[in-house]
Amino acid sequence: MSIEQNLNNIKSQLPEQVTLVAVSKTKPVSDILVAYNTGHRVFGENKIQEMVEKSQELPNDIEWHMIGHVQRNKVKYMASFVKLIHGVNNFKLLKEINKQALKHDRVINCLLQIKIADEDSKFGMTANDAQNILQSSEFSDLQNIKIIGLMGMASFTDDEAQLKAEFNHLHNAFVSLKSLKTKNCHLKTLSMGMSGDYLLAIACGSTMVRIGSSIFGTRNYSI
Ligand SMILES: *Cc1c(COP(=O)(O)O)cnc(C)c1O
Repeated sequence: MSIEQNLNNIKSQLPEQVTLVAVSKTKPVSDILVAYNTGHRVFGENKIQEMVEKSQELPNDIEWHMIGHVQRNKVKYMASFVKLIHGVNNFKLLKEINKQALKHDRVINCLLQIKIADEDSKFGMTANDAQNILQSSEFSDLQNIKIIGLMGMASFTDDEAQLKAEFNHLHNAFVSLKSLKTKNCHLKTLSMGMSGDYLLAIACGSTMVRIGSSIFGTRNYSI
């Protein structure tokens, strides 16, 4: 199936309130352009350098989402254009994003990454850590970031009951933290669900799915 057909199939399954992030990591700009020419504008990358290079070659009305683990010393390279940073997992990183956003006179939207998987390899904070950050005075001082939601990655498993429990856990955190509305915090986005589990994630309350291989085909990391 073609990229166009895959995109159309997936979009036909998504409820209106769910945003699709087309995850283009490792894929060439020619593939992104095919998706772009169907009208799609929201793309996700997991490496800052790769996102910067692609953004320079592609139309500037693309909304670039950073979905991967973010190293603090690389925030500066994407601060001028990144639309949403999904994987914020500590306060020091948030402070750095704020600092770089200020240099560009921007407010950068961020999601706090909550660890829901039962795997050491996945990053994230607890819901309690998130609450402590959002209620701190250091956080309220940050005027160039806005926390607009939460993100999580479920375990790599076929066990539906486990996936459902992990998604429900994240959704519960989202619902409870939603009440903490301040100037730089207003939770409305819940980023969860990938190629293998997005329908389940949506059933559990996701408002943003990050889908790569089901659109662009399997990735080859060796090239
Ligand atoms: C690669 C990636 C995805 C997309 O994975 P697929 O299984 O190809 O849909 C989603 N989220 C994150 C954080 C990723 O790194």
